[in-house]
Amino acid sequence: MVGKFARAVIAKEALVQIRQEIRAVRLKETGGALVGYFAGDAVYVTAASGPGPKAVRRMFSVEIDGAFAKEFCDAESTKSGGLVDYVGDWHCHPCVSTKPSGPDYKAMKVMSGFAGSTTRTPITLIYSRLTSRFSVYLFDGGSQLRPLKTARQKT
Ligand SMILES: [Zn+2]
Repeated sequence: MVGKFARAVIAKEALVQIRQEIRAVRLKETGGALVGYFAGDAVYVTAASGPGPKAVRRMFSVEIDGAFAKEFCDAESTKSGGLVDYVGDWHCHPCVSTKPSGPDYKAMKVMSGFAGSTTRTPITLIYSRLTSRFSVYLFDGGSQLRPLKTARQKT
């Protein structure tokens, strides 16, 4: 089971939501929750949330509003008839790098261990403000986050 996921397919709608949030908040990191589903060797991301009203945005980090994120995931899950749920988080970097930092790794590790978490292998999408490029990494219990191949889904 662990290690079988190799690809991340990001819906156009989710990227639109991420870009809107990034444009709205300048000079600080922002982020949010990702919902979608795991199928075959891929994780499909169908929607992205903002960080929520109680989030703490800093220059180099963002602390997402947990209650807001959970509400967003629950609403998306209901809307999809239970197909999608929380699959991970996204955040932006103020620089060119889309490589995960030490704190990024720790955050994923904590997330995978939550009793209420719907996945033990959450993903994190890191978006560069400067290049508008992004990378997706999977936490699979290893000592490093594993990069996934990314693709965009048009629908
Ligand atoms: Zn980061």
